[in-house]
This record gives sequence, structure tokens and C-alpha cells, in this order.
Amino acid sequence: MFKNPAELAERVLAGTPVTPDEALELLHTDDPGMLDLVAAAARLRREHFGMTVKVNYLVNLKSGLCAEDCGYCSQRLNAGTDILKYSWLSPEQAVEQAEYGIKGGASRVCLVASGRGPSNREVGTVTRTVEALKEQHPDVEVCACLGLLKDGQAESLSGAGVDAYNHNLNTAESHYESICSTHTYQDRVDTVERAKDAGLSPCSGLIVGMRETDEQLVEAVFALRDLGSDSVPVNFLMPFEGTPLAGTWQLSPQKCLKILAVVRFVCPDKEIRMAGGREMHLRSLQPLALHVVNSLFLGDYLTSEGQAAEADLAMIADAGFTVLGAGPDPSRDRHLGPAAAQGGGAEQGSGERTTTPCGSVCGSAAGSGAASGDGSEPEGASVPADVSRGGPVEAVDSSREAGSRNTGDRARARDTAASSAPTGTGMSPALAALLGSGDGPERDEDDTRVRVELSPTVRRRGAGTSVAPNA
Ligand code: SF4
Repeated sequence: MFKNPAELAERVLAGTPVTPDEALELLHTDDPGMLDLVAAAARLRREHFGMTVKVNYLVNLKSGLCAEDCGYCSQRLNAGTDILKYSWLSPEQAVEQAEYGIKGGASRVCLVASGRGPSNREVGTVTRTVEALKEQHPDVEVCACLGLLKDGQAESLSGAGVDAYNHNLNTAESHYESICSTHTYQDRVDTVERAKDAGLSPCSGLIVGMRETDEQLVEAVFALRDLGSDSVPVNFLMPFEGTPLAGTWQLSPQKCLKILAVVRFVCPDKEIRMAGGREMHLRSLQPLALHVVNSLFLGDYLTSEGQAAEADLAMIADAGFTVLGAGPDPSRDRHLGPAAAQGGGAEQGSGERTTTPCGSVCGSAAGSGAASGDGSEPEGASVPADVSRGGPVEAVDSSREAGSRNTGDRARARDTAASSAPTGTGMSPALAALLGSGDGPERDEDDTRVRVELSPTVRRRGAGTSVAPNA
């Protein structure tokens, strides 16, 4: 065993990996020890990735209507979640969506489709999309996430220029049957192996907070290490209404941070991404998490909305990090205020980005409030600005009424928090709940369960809608 996290980090840097028991001990760090744990994980992060953050952008090529029964997923056929449902975007539509993310600073575009796995014809649609995207943006990495792969499909994707393939293990083998019955854990491992064999960079990660034990969580992290995953997205369960895991709230911001630190200790030199649900579960600890992870998704997720992309970039800059591939100080000028903006446009990468004065950035971020899940999002003031940029795809299912109901829930939660603002005696329970303070949320005996039930906000913009995306 180790004396403290700093000593363990030194040992890892010297080449001795952590053991499962040590990982479990790290996971059980008490809250007063959390900053020491983060500092030690940050040492490993800086050693391999400096102060850069890789920005990834999701394009959901096909949404919903999946016959599989993954218990966490809003896209399963009988989920009662009123998500967007649409069939395949055309290559032109997909490239148009991807370009929003690229202009936002993304160096990797993740092309995702719902379903058990693609037909060969669908793989052909994806290869045409990738070829079109690479023609316009040869330096952008493309990751495909299409489900279980059959013989020859990984090779077709690789031949078209796909760089990586994502297929998450999601959870421990010992827990898998309790979250899915239509395919197996081994099916998932096999697909990652097929991708590796075809020369694709393996991307495989987790969804935490699915009623797994801490031991199972550690089991899953070591499985990812042994699988050789180059990048490890860590999703935090967004318990959509209408899914079997609705109402599952197992995570606190502190617990999320400890999980990320454990992943960093076990996979010190891998790209670790804070993924869907970070806004909802890490909440005000997101900037601290940047010292542990080195990657995130910009903007929205597959079926839910993330915080404003402007807020993501501001968070990165404010915490002293730079966007990978964007040169130094990537988005800082966007947040220096009107005077700085007038003094010279902020540019990033190819110089395509326009400057946004601080006022509008803060305005849209404030409008979005706390966020949500599989991915997640803000609504309100930021949307009209996005719409003005144009370039929407055809809406397939735009039942915005349900979205309004959903976003209305969250807006009401924010209103409640704001209207019961801090008093002289301390933070209000509602605001404390949103901010993750120990004052507000109800906790269970092991102090890891925080019952802050924020609804994921269903995505109503970007791919599959007539509204420009959050990027
Ligand atoms: S995770 Fe994928 S395979 Fe499982 S239900 Fe959702 S879309 Fe289908």
C-alpha cells in the first residue's frame, strides 16, 4: 500500500502501476483528502499531456429506435424518453454538423449511430461521410461509434480514413447482465479487438453511477487498461425518465472527481475524457476535473444538451489550460470583455473563429444554468444566436413541446434556487444542491449519494433538427 497519493504518483511515474486494492483505496479517499488526490492525479496528467485539453465533438448520425435494451440508454426502442428520432444523416448533413464543432476548436469528430451495429450499406454511408469530411479537414481526427462490428467493417472504416473506433465497455463484466440482456460484455470486447486489429485507435470507456459497486467500478477500469484503450471517456449516468435506470442517483461531485482520479492513476498516459453527465454530476467541480482529465466533449451530447460551448471554452481558458491544436491561449480573447474584443478579433487555429465579447458569453452561460446528460444542454438566450449562423439539417422529429416541458423543469429548478438565494445563515438548500455543497443535498450513510435530481435536458438542436447546434 502507499503512504499518500503523491507518493503513489511518484511510484507510477517510476513505472510501477497501481493495484486494484490501491485503486479502491484511492476511490475511498475522504473528502478532506480530495485535493491531495487531485494534485497527485494532476501530476500524472501534466507529465503526459501538459496543460492541453483535447476537444471532441459529437455528431449523432442516427438517433433512437434501437432494438437493444441497454438500461441506461434513451435511444432504446421502448424508452419513454421523448428524444429526437431520425434515420441516417446524409454525408453532406453530417459534414455540415461536424464543421460547427471544428470551428469551435474540436480536433476530433465522433460520428455516432444508434443500433446494435451497422449493416454493410450503413458502413458505406459512414465511409462516404468520412471521406467528405477528411477532404475538407484532413487534420481532423475522426472516431466512429456505430455499435458492434462484423467481419470486414473495421477494415472498411480504416480504409476510408477513420482514425479511431469507440465502443464502451461501460461497466464491469460482473455487472453487465444487470444493465443489458440483448448483447454481452464479451460482444463489446470483441468489437474493440476488431477495431484494434484493423489499425483503429481503440476508444472505450465507462458509464458510472449505474448501481455498480466500487469494486465493480475498479474492475471495469482495470479491464479498460488491459484492453489497451487509447482514450477512455467517463460518462456519468444521466437517468432519463423512461429508462430502467431512471431515478438512479449514486454520484456526488466529489465522488465523480475521485473516479476520474482513479482512472488517471490506472491509465496515467491515456486520454481521459469527462463525458456525458459532467455538468449534471461534477457541477461546480468541472474546472477542478480538468486537472485530472485531458479531454472533453464540446457542447451537446447524443440525445441531451450540454452547457454552452462558449462556457466550455471559457472554463478551459479560465483554468489555465489550452485547447489541443489551437495554439496558446485558444479562447481567452473571447472572454476578455468588449474592449479587448474591439482591440482585435480572437482567432483560433485557422482563424475561422469570431470574437464574442464577455457579455454575450456570460449571458448565454447564465441562461443555461446547471446541465444534464448521455450528453446534455442549455436553452434559452444562446439559441437565437446559434440560429443566426444557419445551416440546419432537415428536422425529422421536432416535438419541441416535450422539450419545453423538460427544459422547463430545469428552469424551475434554477428559479427555485435563485429565489431562495443565500441568506445570512448560509446557502439555501436548493442552491446548495445545484452547487454540490454539503449544506444542501441529502446524503446516505456512506456519504456518496446525493439526491439532486436534475432532469437531463433532451437535445432539441443540432443534428436532426432545423436549429443550429451548440458549438
Ligand atoms: S447504447 Fe447503443 S445499443 Fe444500447 S440501446 Fe442505446 S443505441 Fe442501442
